[in-house]
Order: sequence, then structure tokens, then C-alpha cells
Amino acid sequence: MAKTDKTSAKKKLHTKTGDRVIVVSGKDKGKQGNVKSVNLQDGTILVDGVNVVTKAQKANPMAGIQGGLNKIAKPIDASKVMVCCLSCEKATRVGHVVKDGKKVRVCKKCGEVIDV
Ligand SMILES: [Zn+2]
Repeated sequence: MAKTDKTSAKKKLHTKTGDRVIVVSGKDKGKQGNVKSVNLQDGTILVDGVNVVTKAQKANPMAGIQGGLNKIAKPIDASKVMVCCLSCEKATRVGHVVKDGKKVRVCKKCGEVIDV
């Protein structure tokens, strides 16, 4: 794999779907949520209840869409969040250890395995 090829390179993120994360910068700083989805192409993640914007939705009765203001969560940059450890309930950095032959992620603070 060529390191100079940036267009097709997928980013390696410290979070993945299902993680509990805490926002450390931006307008949603301090908020916690679960990662709904991860976009490795542009390094963004979708977090439940974070970066919620109000979108005006036009009614379309043919498609069964109700008009009005809908709140939707928009993806944020993965660098704006830290993984929240469920054991010590702190925002933490993630370490990697091999356990039972498998690579798992651990909390750097308390050493508990984050992957479930
Ligand atoms: Zn911990």
C-alpha cells in the first residue's frame, strides 16, 4: 500500500460503531453519545444526539413525509471526540492489547477492555 495515495486511503479511527464517546471540542463539547456510524473515508462519525441540526422538511404526502422541522444528527470529525470508558466513566485514550489471541482495545486509564 502506497503511503502517498491519500485519495483511496481509509482513515484509521479510534472509535467505532457502538462506542460511547464524549465530545471534547466544538459547540457540543461535553456531550456524550453512542456512535451510530463511522465514515472511514472522510474520518467523520455520527453520534447520537450530537451536532443536531434542525432541518426544514417539505411535506410530501405522496411519499408519506410530514412537513415541519425535523431534528437530525450530522456527522462530526472523529478527532473531536474521545472514547468514554464504561468502567471508569472517563474520557480516555485507547490502547491495544492482545487478549486470547485477539487484538482488543483497552482504556488507558483503568485498563478495562472497551470492546464488547
Ligand atoms: Zn477506564
